[in-house]
Amino acid sequence: MWPMTLYLKYRPQTVPELDLKAVRESLGKTLSNKDLPAGRQSLPHAWLFSGPRGVGKTSAARVLAKYINCRGKEKPCNKCDLCLGITAGACPDVVEIDAASNRGIDEIRQLREGVGLAPMQAKFKVYIIDEVHMLTSEAANALLKTLEEPPPHVMFVLCTTEAEKLPETVISRCTRVVFSKPSLEEIVEKLKRVAGEEKLKVDHGQLILIAKAARGSFRDAIKMLEQVMLGGKLDEIEGAGEFLEMGTDEALAYVNKLAERGVNLRTFVEKCVEELREKLLETKDVSLISKIEELERAYGRMKDAAVPQLPLEIFVIERAGESKSIRAGGEKKSEGPTIKKQEPVVGGNLGGHMLDDVLSHWPEVMKAVRPKNHSVEALLRSTKPVGFDGRDLILEAFYEFHKKQLETERCRVIVEQTVSEVLGVDVVALKMQLGHGSTVAKATGGDGGEELVKAAEEIFKR
Ligand SMILES: [Zn+2]
Repeated sequence: MWPMTLYLKYRPQTVPELDLKAVRESLGKTLSNKDLPAGRQSLPHAWLFSGPRGVGKTSAARVLAKYINCRGKEKPCNKCDLCLGITAGACPDVVEIDAASNRGIDEIRQLREGVGLAPMQAKFKVYIIDEVHMLTSEAANALLKTLEEPPPHVMFVLCTTEAEKLPETVISRCTRVVFSKPSLEEIVEKLKRVAGEEKLKVDHGQLILIAKAARGSFRDAIKMLEQVMLGGKLDEIEGAGEFLEMGTDEALAYVNKLAERGVNLRTFVEKCVEELREKLLETKDVSLISKIEELERAYGRMKDAAVPQLPLEIFVIERAGESKSIRAGGEKKSEGPTIKKQEPVVGGNLGGHMLDDVLSHWPEVMKAVRPKNHSVEALLRSTKPVGFDGRDLILEAFYEFHKKQLETERCRVIVEQTVSEVLGVDVVALKMQLGHGSTVAKATGGDGGEELVKAAEEIFKR
């Protein structure tokens, strides 16, 4: 894997490298006006960087910290010990605090104590407080006191995605820099630079696609570019948003399509989770939380699932089950699980001892299938033989979806040939049926989703 993520690798390190043109210009202007050594003292002591996530606020804060502390001539030189220390996040005088997880009065008190002490190496102590609007009001008031009378060796850079939540008294103490959502061109520009330096073959059209899908976040754009580099496909990344909106049938078919095309499903799930996270932060819609948790569970399971796509399919079906129970009480027909009751092709235990023969040889069959086609082997794991008469082999699948895949010519032939080889019979004809007899029958009833999920989860236990 990469020694560090591309986002960190291509973090702007100087003012001219800042990604947003407006910020580059306004910050550059403020700094160059006060560029005299003595004048540095007269730079603002409190800054407020506000704007959406992923647009480079904390990166800019670090550039600022380097700028005022750099020992070099050209600031920041990115060569002196202070610049390097700050870039590495290892400078004791530049303190980054995530207010989302350090919200309370105690943390701010601690900070105020530290503020009183002289810097250890640098000229200025810089406190970068991220998501500053998350501070409790008590903590925000304590911070305000420090902002009102900052020691001359201290600079604050407050970063926030929600400036309107900050007390007016805090805002008025700060020099504000507004980070607006980047334009498509700005994101493409950034991607171009990263792709160029990484010597990536990505054409302009693809960069535009990524930039669009990133919806105003440099961070997301670069992550997507990274996924493409790691072998992901562009449409798997684009599709995450649509996927989350799809109905059950469509979503299951979509998962199948991705799997067939060899798309990395874990990458896809990562993208879905990110998508939901963004929505959650935007809308604070708590109903998204369970969705995120379920996806993460699927993500964990995908690592060693026999059928890699199954955890994602379970997610889809679970969601269908849930929206169904939410709607329960209404008379509307739901879009729940799509498996329909189906008459068994043949009764459960056709050809008693012949079936036993198949069952006892089944591990061998799986083993023999594996080198021929890995995904057929994986599919077989979610089936079981329920009948054999010397010619017709009946396999029960728990999912319509897997049944259909095994019924395709390509898969069917592999199974038939392998079984006939292992059992030493001339002709085998594969017949698929949908299983768990009673489970599936129930699945057409009111709470089919649950039953189905149970059945599917059994597969994992094996
Ligand atoms: Zn330097």
